[in-house]
Amino acid sequence: MPIPTELVGSLPRPEKLQNAYQDLDDGKITWEDLQALQDEAAEDSIKRLEATGEPIVTDGEQRESSFATYPITDTLAGTGLADNLAGDGQFFAIFDDGHHRQLPRLTGGPFRYKTFASEFVEKNRKIATHDVKQAVIAPSMLMLLYPLEGEIEGYSRDQFLADLCDEVEKDIRQCFAAGAVRVSVDFTEGRLANKNDARNPWTGRNMLQDFIDLNNQVFDRFSPEERRNIGIHTCPGGDNDSVHSKDVPYEKLLSKMFEINAGYFLIQCASEEDKEEVYRLCGKYSRDDANGVAQVCFMGVINPLTPEVETAEQVKNDLLTAAKHIPVERLGATDDCGFSPFSRDLKPKHGSPDFARDVAMQKISARLEGTRMASEELGV
Ligand SMILES: [Zn+2]
Repeated sequence: MPIPTELVGSLPRPEKLQNAYQDLDDGKITWEDLQALQDEAAEDSIKRLEATGEPIVTDGEQRESSFATYPITDTLAGTGLADNLAGDGQFFAIFDDGHHRQLPRLTGGPFRYKTFASEFVEKNRKIATHDVKQAVIAPSMLMLLYPLEGEIEGYSRDQFLADLCDEVEKDIRQCFAAGAVRVSVDFTEGRLANKNDARNPWTGRNMLQDFIDLNNQVFDRFSPEERRNIGIHTCPGGDNDSVHSKDVPYEKLLSKMFEINAGYFLIQCASEEDKEEVYRLCGKYSRDDANGVAQVCFMGVINPLTPEVETAEQVKNDLLTAAKHIPVERLGATDDCGFSPFSRDLKPKHGSPDFARDVAMQKISARLEGTRMASEELGV
């Protein structure tokens, strides 16, 4: 079988759509107006991805406030916030360029999603002629909605985590029921968990094992056959062309991450200084039997944070090196991250999000061609 390849999920939103999110916050347009523009951008994303030959497509997350907040708010500014949440939660991350992203704060129970990702899958399936995948958010990210210290009166942390796991399980199951062939779970907080950033207290709490255990509470509800198509995505962040945790030694995460009983992993690598070391670590720590499923390592061969387009030759060479460390039947190719995980992302190194959308398609084409060339050379 040729080396499989898959995108993470997001694409830059057209500037017109980004402005419309702002217009909704400002009360200048209605939710229906915004949805019409989201649908237009989603259809354009699917058609352009299919034109590159991408075998499994997404809508580029054009309908989502962000990869992390789509279940609980319509916009990043908090328009359409779900029940029992307030806007002033803890930082999720402080990025290297100084900007930050903040989560809402849980104020009481019960915790419930207002939007499930299957809504997007249903719409996308009507447009796409290729298979459709969907990225969903990990429970380990949303556990940060609960205040770090103390308990909410009348809604214990344990009760919240139980409700959260139920919602995430439902989110994944409904995506498959709506026709997604793959569901990947975004786990960008994994590497950040060892950051020890004094400005962001949760990153100093050694929470990585708690994250992994919580995620496994959800993964273990699925059969090996189902988990073959449920993935985990890791990266050091990717927002406004900046990262939040690339300075954290990668082995701290990679030595633990494969404890998650996922069937595949979408692993940032192209932007690492020593890519071969990352292949080696993935070869060392990934498992050929994770409670009944072999873990496939999709290595990042494209960096979505730079406008320079990788060549197919580079992609091929990276995969040939990776194949020295990872069994080829457990090797795949991906991008380091989604191209724009948050709905407001001006892609400053690219100059504009509209240009970054064009660049993304060129990069994806290089991944597809390079992966094809590597498969040919490896005789698979
Ligand atoms: Zn990412």
